[in-house]
Amino acid sequence: MQQGLLLGGMALLAGCRNGQPAKTAQIAWPNQDAPSPTPPWTPPTRQVEPLPPTPGGYYSLPSNVIPRSQWTDQGLIKSRLTSNGQDGKMGKILRITVHHDALDSSRINTRGEAMRRLQTVRQGHITRRPEPFADIGYHFVIDPMGNVWEARSLYYQGAHVKGQNENNMGIMVMGNFEFQRPTSAALQSLDSFVAQQMRRYNVDMRHVKTHQEMAPTECPGQNLQRYMVATRGRGGNMARYA
Ligand SMILES: [Zn+2]
Repeated sequence: MQQGLLLGGMALLAGCRNGQPAKTAQIAWPNQDAPSPTPPWTPPTRQVEPLPPTPGGYYSLPSNVIPRSQWTDQGLIKSRLTSNGQDGKMGKILRITVHHDALDSSRINTRGEAMRRLQTVRQGHITRRPEPFADIGYHFVIDPMGNVWEARSLYYQGAHVKGQNENNMGIMVMGNFEFQRPTSAALQSLDSFVAQQMRRYNVDMRHVKTHQEMAPTECPGQNLQRYMVATRGRGGNMARYA
């Protein structure tokens, strides 16, 4: 675990530098009442408060996404929420940005291993220096089996493109795609999930970007970058599904 966290922290520093925040008001978390695994580190004080339920609401979780409550019972650290004039809330979704986590995902073959990776990435994000995040920075994460996981609640602004997080949904694909190739299951999920979100929030293809198209970074790695160029283009799967 220690080695994993160390590697995670190093890769997060090297791979996917994210944007962050100033201080804002105290924000509540949505209800998380499903049973969750015990994280392998000492959890910080829980800062979870219920939000009003939003069945069918603007930020409600699509049925094809695994809820956050399945991999963590931790809330976010309210004092670190990004300020954009909306108390750390996402507001309207106007754009989507695709990332990798810059961590080798070739040994992630089960949901349990994906859950541990999610916990590692969250731990890296809330302990990063000099600007630790309120929580995992991304809103959704796709694992090598093609599962889509809820990460930071979409109700809150993410921390994934420095200075450009406003109204920006962050989607991460597990892996280091400078070196690895994404699995076909992950790419199929990425295409259909991004297209689903584009339709849902009326985001057109001009506003679906990769991290390196918005800031100087290797993220999401050359192999996923090449795929993103193709799939958004004429005849690409994402373009056809959207
Ligand atoms: Zn990134």
